[in-house]
Amino acid sequence: MKVLVINAGSSSLKYQLLDTDSQAVLAKGLCERIGIDGKFTYKAPGKATVDAVDIAMPTHSEAIQAVLDALVDPANGVIASMKEIDAVGHRVVHGGETFASSVKIDSKVMAALEECIPLAPLHNPANITGIKACTAVMGPDVPQVAVFDTAFHQTMPPVAYTYALPYEYYEQDKVRRYGFHGTSHKYVTQRAADMLGKPIESLKLISCHLGNGSSIAAVAGAKSVDTSMGFTPLAGLPMGTRSGDLDAGILEYLMNKHGMDIKEMLNILNKKSGVQGVSGVSSDFRDLGSAAEQGNGRAALALGMFSYGVKKYIGAYAAAMGGVDAIIFTAGVGENDADQRMAIASGLEYMGVKMDPDANNVRGKEAIISAIDSKVKVLLIPTNEELMIALDTAALV
Ligand code: ADP
Repeated sequence: MKVLVINAGSSSLKYQLLDTDSQAVLAKGLCERIGIDGKFTYKAPGKATVDAVDIAMPTHSEAIQAVLDALVDPANGVIASMKEIDAVGHRVVHGGETFASSVKIDSKVMAALEECIPLAPLHNPANITGIKACTAVMGPDVPQVAVFDTAFHQTMPPVAYTYALPYEYYEQDKVRRYGFHGTSHKYVTQRAADMLGKPIESLKLISCHLGNGSSIAAVAGAKSVDTSMGFTPLAGLPMGTRSGDLDAGILEYLMNKHGMDIKEMLNILNKKSGVQGVSGVSSDFRDLGSAAEQGNGRAALALGMFSYGVKKYIGAYAAAMGGVDAIIFTAGVGENDADQRMAIASGLEYMGVKMDPDANNVRGKEAIISAIDSKVKVLLIPTNEELMIALDTAALV
């Protein structure tokens, strides 16, 4: 089946056309600066790459049209006509408590997606715009599926998702831990079971998605039982520019001291904190590594805080599940940063984690990086959210 995977942002739209039988990426690219001056990229194996600026893209509909035009282009396209696209899979950030799995989109689902907007006011409207644009350009007969970042975590028990606030804030206002990166955690835990040759239902896994945004999930018997992100993706680990968890009392103290309103405060917590804020150098772990090597103490502190934070979650989630069979590293830092992986795993020997330094000297491909006699396996698994979205979409249509 050929599935077009769409990840729509407010002014951008990432796309991939995948063949779910061969799992091959037929073409992929990015529409950027939608509503501004339109930038379009397209890549397909063996075809000329398109990298165009000043493309008329006043709305997401023209962006989808540009994607379809490129896919059927006689010279560089990969399909003869739009009819070859069997279905469209959309990444949707927030499904609230309504969606515990992916869903085929109809008018009822669209109404429920609209209801989830208050939970993700920056992301869900863009995702909905992407769905409407596909309907407008491709017609109502091409099946579309929504795949949610939050859905995989809907299996968490109340003790893990409830905040210790007055209970009516949960009942009336839906304030609870939702968790994100669910598509990634689901994909890598399924791959881990394949790599270990064991049924996923029998495994206790800790999935570490460490990128610009980072989250950790405890997955027991194929179900997410806890995760580090919360009501929003600001919670949990320190990230590239996000603070992660902190004492809520700090907000009032800093806002009073510096005369900031809540918008300014949240801008600092989301965009100026994390390893960027601590180091003052960069949000990129490569820059931090070079700076630390040259003796920059704050860069070293930021890196140390990050690995310490991940290590604490691993300990906590092993306790939550009553053990762990494998720890998975994925996303930009998890897939590429051997030093971080080593720093995180060192000191966990007491719980049966023994790394193989040679095996750990690897980037961006599936590998077992623990020693042969390590009781707990440590796996590197590149994430593939687009493939997961395409497979869910194919299964539903
Ligand atoms: P996003 O959350 O935006 O999807 P990614 O998962 O792509 O992020 O991760 C991006 C981050 O991965 C970069 O900011 C950088 O910190 C890190 N990264 C990428 N390559 C390397 C590398 N070779 N070594 C260390 N860190 C890397």
